[in-house]
Amino acid sequence: MKFKNFICDIIKMLFPNTCLGCEEIIPEGEFFCDYCFEMLERCNLEKMCLKCGQEKKNCQCDTRVFSFDGIVAPFYNVGCAQNAMYTMKFGKRKSIADLFAKQMALAVKYTFYDIKFDGICYVPLSIKSLRKRGFNQSREIAAIISKILDIPLIENQLMCCGKKKPQHKVNLDERFKNIKGVYVNCMDIKGKILLVDDIKTTGATLDECSKKLLSGGADAVYCTVGLITKRSVKSLKKG
Ligand SMILES: [Zn+2]
Ligand SMILES: [Zn+2]
Repeated sequence: MKFKNFICDIIKMLFPNTCLGCEEIIPEGEFFCDYCFEMLERCNLEKMCLKCGQEKKNCQCDTRVFSFDGIVAPFYNVGCAQNAMYTMKFGKRKSIADLFAKQMALAVKYTFYDIKFDGICYVPLSIKSLRKRGFNQSREIAAIISKILDIPLIENQLMCCGKKKPQHKVNLDERFKNIKGVYVNCMDIKGKILLVDDIKTTGATLDECSKKLLSGGADAVYCTVGLITKRSVKSLKKG
């Protein structure tokens, strides 16, 4: 046992925990140094449209009716928060789910305080992406939120049958078309559902998944994501 601890100490010395923003060495179990944590661009929930999740000045609701009833995110998809999400997804650091889950749970509690959720679902990955990454970041986040908010996690409610093209490679305008028919609802479901994903850009993925949950019997779907795009997604051609 002592030898194992010794090896652990050596590994920690060789590979210390570093800030996801500036790479400064920080204590084990933390994600950011104090400075980068302060600099995280948090969504000002008073300024957001709670239906589409965008800042009110960039509200999408006049051009699009989403099938979910509301959405909330703790951070904008910029800077250190973006870095943390990308490190989790592409650097395969599952533990970062904890950072997002805690902040998302707080945002849900604050914003949807009058809603009693019956279950938590998450946006699934395709089998190919899941094999490549080893875990589904949205599922990891959802599992922690489920514990924090004491709402049951519903596993494998939705299935992803593979995308025609990855969403980020498709023009923003075409994302709603590209995602059609990609998700399948696997079981009957009822009540109010909290749907978890990592990032919202246009909302096409969440919209499609919400539709499937509603057609499977859910009474209402509300969403939460770790990051939400800050720019307007109305000027869609920019890509
Ligand atoms: Zn830092
Ligand atoms: Zn809106």
